[in-house]
Amino acid sequence: MSEPHVLLLGAPGAGKGTQSKRLADAFDIEHVTTGDALRANKDMDIGHMDTAYDTPRAYMEAGELVPDAVVNEIVKTALDSANGYVLDGYPRNLEQAEYLSEITDLDVAVFLDVSEPELVERLTGRRVCDECGANYHVEFNPPEEAGVCDECGGDLIQRDDDTEETVRERLRVYRENTAPVVEHYREEGVLVEVDGEGTPDEVFEAIREEVDAAT
Ligand code: AMP
Repeated sequence: MSEPHVLLLGAPGAGKGTQSKRLADAFDIEHVTTGDALRANKDMDIGHMDTAYDTPRAYMEAGELVPDAVVNEIVKTALDSANGYVLDGYPRNLEQAEYLSEITDLDVAVFLDVSEPELVERLTGRRVCDECGANYHVEFNPPEEAGVCDECGGDLIQRDDDTEETVRERLRVYRENTAPVVEHYREEGVLVEVDGEGTPDEVFEAIREEVDAAT
């Protein structure tokens, strides 16, 4: 039996990162995330790709999409060596969805539904460990000691793009570019919706059931 091919869709802050990691562990598949790959390579030189800016950093700090050629390449390389996978943060526009359909087949696209006020609250209060990447929230999931990671003692920082102004821009970019991707998969008949506002455990169980049902 082949391993699951899963897409996790949702706005920034919907919980794609958290739930993708859990799904990858539970099904023993690759977690393929363009956001993490770009954060690890923020200053790579993409000038030769005929882009408006020379590095991913400039796009990310503005809350804009990094050019398709850059992210398509990241995803192609990752999927070439993956058996099963959960894709997180890609595709973010219809062109990327078209490219994806040329390189792989999906079993299911899971849309995590979260209201916009909740997204803003989650993102602006988010803190991440700059050592191990663990996620916290100043109000909903604070660390034992402010500013210090419970897991590894690393410093907790706010992502450059989690400031209120950039969050608003990321949500605008989501509505304009990525919401049509959700509709595209709905029309294709592979979309399922999960309420993303339950506890992380509840959301995970709902996603797991959908993946089990589709594979
Ligand atoms: P994320 O961690 O998924 O919220 O992504 C953070 C930022 O990375 C986004 O705001 C974009 O600037 C960039 N990014 C991540 N994935 C993509 C993608 N599929 N297409 C274009 N830009 C992306």
